[in-house]
Amino acid sequence: MSVTHRLTAPAPGWTATTDVVVVGSGVAGLTVALNVRKAGLRATVVTKAMLDDGSTRWAQGGIAAALGEGDTPEQHLDDTLVAGAGLCDEEAVRTLVTEGPDAVRHLIATGAAFDLDAEGEILLTREGGHHRRRIAHAGGDATGAEISRALVSAVRSDPGLELIEHALVLDLLTDAEGHAAGLTLHVMGEGQRDGVGAIRARAVVLATGGMGQVFSATTNPAVSTGDGVALALRAGAEVTDLEFVQFHPTVLWLGPEAEGQQPLVSEAVRGEGAHLVDAEGTRFMLGQHELAELAPRDIVAKAITRQMQAHGAEHMYLDGRHFGPEMWAERFPTILASCRSHGIDPVTDLIPVAPAAHYASGGIRTDLLGRTTVPGLYACGEVACTGVHGANRLASNSLLEGLVFAERIAADLTARHTAGELPERAVDVAATRAAQSVPLPAPEARAEIQRLMSTGAGVLRSAASMAATAAGLARLGEQAHAQLADEKPADPRVETWEAANLHLVATALVAAAAQREETRGCHWREDFPERDDAHWQRHLITTLATATGTPVSTPEEQ
Ligand SMILES: Cc1cc2nc3c(=O)[nH]c(=O)nc-3n(C[C@H](O)[C@H](O)[C@H](O)COP(=O)(O)OP(=O)(O)OC[C@H]3O[C@@H](n4cnc5c(N)ncnc54)[C@H](O)[C@@H]3O)c2cc1C
Repeated sequence: MSVTHRLTAPAPGWTATTDVVVVGSGVAGLTVALNVRKAGLRATVVTKAMLDDGSTRWAQGGIAAALGEGDTPEQHLDDTLVAGAGLCDEEAVRTLVTEGPDAVRHLIATGAAFDLDAEGEILLTREGGHHRRRIAHAGGDATGAEISRALVSAVRSDPGLELIEHALVLDLLTDAEGHAAGLTLHVMGEGQRDGVGAIRARAVVLATGGMGQVFSATTNPAVSTGDGVALALRAGAEVTDLEFVQFHPTVLWLGPEAEGQQPLVSEAVRGEGAHLVDAEGTRFMLGQHELAELAPRDIVAKAITRQMQAHGAEHMYLDGRHFGPEMWAERFPTILASCRSHGIDPVTDLIPVAPAAHYASGGIRTDLLGRTTVPGLYACGEVACTGVHGANRLASNSLLEGLVFAERIAADLTARHTAGELPERAVDVAATRAAQSVPLPAPEARAEIQRLMSTGAGVLRSAASMAATAAGLARLGEQAHAQLADEKPADPRVETWEAANLHLVATALVAAAAQREETRGCHWREDFPERDDAHWQRHLITTLATATGTPVSTPEEQ
């Protein structure tokens, strides 16, 4: 299988060569890079903005692993399977929970400092869906910032590792056998590597993070535009479980016009005893689930949305006033500062919260070694679908997944290199030219895509709402084609490439979500409110139709 479609872009003006090119500099990408370097492979990390600009830096709550006394990987497995609502790949989960504790220890050895008790043991908290305290955290609620700091510092001190910042990766390059052979990218800067270029490599690893920016309100940073999934689709790879977008229940509500990245109020705040209440102060999670406020995220997000509908309100409230000022300052300094910067003091005030897009449980389909369905193309972290999360991610399993599967990819690349199975690849220039060029939407399309997706394919979905979203997305696609036909195409640049990626990912997501006629995990259909195991205990696999370039979702064989 070779690349069938590519983004409209100028021909590469420069070329570089490496052994492994890693796209993305979050927990997943940097872990792959550091580990392949141990095997003596040359590695290049390409990242869209600065090294620490992905979701990793924003993670608050922590990282889940069976590290506590009395806890076991088996119990972590059970909680993960329950959250995944029948669609987890049990072998993938078993890999995650058994290799997880060592992966956290490796991270500590790399320099990440977790919060410790007086005896020097790692402090563990609880989050939704976990029956034990098993979430390690750093700086109270600044876990991601500490992980990012430690990994960025480690990669910066390896002179053999090439780091290219402010570089947007566009498309995959393959050799004559359809094996990944590198990628094209656009470097924003000046110097020898300015503009569109190509990096040739023996293998390509996608670690581009999530796609929260397809929705109007999200916890994800601006770089989370689903580029990796879009690239993989254009390269002929299978993606899966796209319909399972986790909406975080407690995102600070900043008013009806708020757009883009919104501040998160971590689940750990509920883990430490904060309550969800309505405007009258009534705790509405009691009696809805045995874990009340700590029920899995989809249950809490749905309960909040139902309450909002019932009260005609735009948000509900989180009550952590009983923590007192010391606990807020020591345990949740980041959240306290963020709330106060928006005029809300959690020590004395209720915190207004509403659900917002948070995590893509689906992504590029991989096996347990991180291999995608395109040879030589790997994926890990949020962009990948390893099968760990099923229909809903268990809180704090994502940083862990990034670590564990990044280590596995590096081990696979190392083994292949040692066995002489990772030769240099010659790019098939004819195949690259033959790939159809995707017309680019105007930069303003981004806001329109987000509006369409939040209106019709957000927490609440129905056939009618998604048909309207799909029609709006199709219209945007037609406009881009018409502009091309009129010889007035949008300029190829970062904004239009990102808009094209958002458009493709949104179209694929809606195609899958419309097809899944049931409610499961974080996919909530108003018109099909029940889980339907007889028809839907299976995954939807999405690929790009070669002729039309539109995403097609097919249910996996049962
Ligand atoms: C506010 C918030 C709180 C969270 N809290 C937790 C938590 O407590 N525990 C937990 O386990 N998870 C948490 N998560 C989820 C977790 O942080 C992410 O799933 C995880 O960090 C993803 O890591 P990653 O390496 O896959 O991607 P990211 O860290 O998002 O990195 C992606 C990288 O890819 C780059 N990139 C993207 N597209 C391109 C392109 N075209 N070209 C070049 N580079 C590109 C980006 O610039 C970035 O460097 C949270 C997420 C958010 C947003």
